[in-house]
Amino acid sequence: MQQTFLGHSKVPSSRLAYGCWRIATSSDLSQNYAVAKTAIFTALDAGYTLFDHADIYCNGVSEQIFGRILQDNPGLRSRMSIATKCGIRLKNQPHGAPARYDFSKDHIIAQCELSLRRLGIETIDLLHLHRPDYLMDASEVAEAFDQLRAEGKVREFGVSNFRPSHVSLLQSALSFPLVVNQVEISLLQMKALEDGTLDYCQEKKMTPLAWSPLGGGLLADGGKDLLPGQMDYEPSFVVAIVDWIAKTRNVPKEVVSLAWLLKHPSGIIPIVGTTSPERIRRMAEASGVDLTREEWYHLLTAARPEPLP
Ligand code: NAP
Repeated sequence: MQQTFLGHSKVPSSRLAYGCWRIATSSDLSQNYAVAKTAIFTALDAGYTLFDHADIYCNGVSEQIFGRILQDNPGLRSRMSIATKCGIRLKNQPHGAPARYDFSKDHIIAQCELSLRRLGIETIDLLHLHRPDYLMDASEVAEAFDQLRAEGKVREFGVSNFRPSHVSLLQSALSFPLVVNQVEISLLQMKALEDGTLDYCQEKKMTPLAWSPLGGGLLADGGKDLLPGQMDYEPSFVVAIVDWIAKTRNVPKEVVSLAWLLKHPSGIIPIVGTTSPERIRRMAEASGVDLTREEWYHLLTAARPEPLP
C-alpha cells in the first residue's frame, strides 16, 4: 500500500488507516483478543501502518487489548503509528453527570496518560481532541499540548469533528501546526466537501482522516452499530452506481467508495473499520485505484439529493 506522512509532520501513515473502534465489543479481554489480533496482523500485512483509537472506545478496552497484543509481540510497535483521542466524557462518569466534552488541561493530560498506560507505549504518535468542546479555551489546550510534547508523551496533535473556525481558533494559540482533522466523510456524508473543512485542510496542509468511510457499512453489505447521525442515511441510489463502477472495473464495491475519497486532492486518509480479515485485505486494493474524473462525478451526482447546477 502507498505510504505518506500526516500533515507537515514526519509521522508515517499508509494511504488507508485501520480503525480500532470495533476490535472490542465487551469488557472481556480474552473474548475479544483473537478477533483483534487477527485484524491487526492482517492490516499490517496488507500495508496499513496507522492505527486509530480513542480513550472511550469500548470504555478503554480497545486500547487495552491493543496494548496486550503489542506486549505479546515484541517488534510490532515499530511497524506502526498509533493515534488516539480524548476530550469526550461519557454519561454517568461520575454517576449522574451528563455526556459532555472536556478540554481542560487536567483532563487532556490525565486521559493521555491513561491511554499510554493501556496501550503500554511510551509515546503516542498522534493525539486528537475528539469533538469540539463548547467551553474550549485555546490557551489552556496549548498548555496541555506543550507539556505532553515536552515530556515526550505525544509526537503530534490533531483534532476531530472540528469545523475550520474551531481549528483556526485552536491553531492561533499553538506554536506548532495541527497535523490532522478527523471527520466523517463518505458518499453518504459529504458535509466536509461543502462546509470548507476539506478546503481548509488543503490550504493548511493538514491531513483529513475520514471516519466511517463506508457509512458504517451501508455502502457495502453492512450497517450494524450505526451512530445516531447515520440512521437515516439513504444508500440505495448511490450504491447502484458504486456497484456499476465496481463491475466495470472488476473490483470489490468497497474499493470504489474508498477510491472516491482517495481521489480528493486534500489527501484524505480513509479509516477502515471492518474486523473481517478478508475485507481488511480487500479494501487495501483501493490504494491502487485511480478513478477517472467522470467516475468520481458519477458517484458525487448519485450521492447528492439534487443535480449539480
Ligand atoms: P466503516 O468502514 O464505514 O464501517 C465499518 C462497518 O461496516 C463494520 O461494522 C463492518 O462490519 C461493516 N462492513 C464493512 N464492509 C462490509 C461488508 N462488505 N459487508 C458487511 N459489513 C461490512 O467505518 P467505521 O467502523 O464506522 O469507522 C472507522 C473508524 O473510524 C473507527 O474504527 C474509528 O477508528 C473511527 N471513528 C472515529 C469517529 C470520530 O468521531 N472521530 C467516529 C466513528 C469512527 P464487519 O466488521 O463485520 O466487516
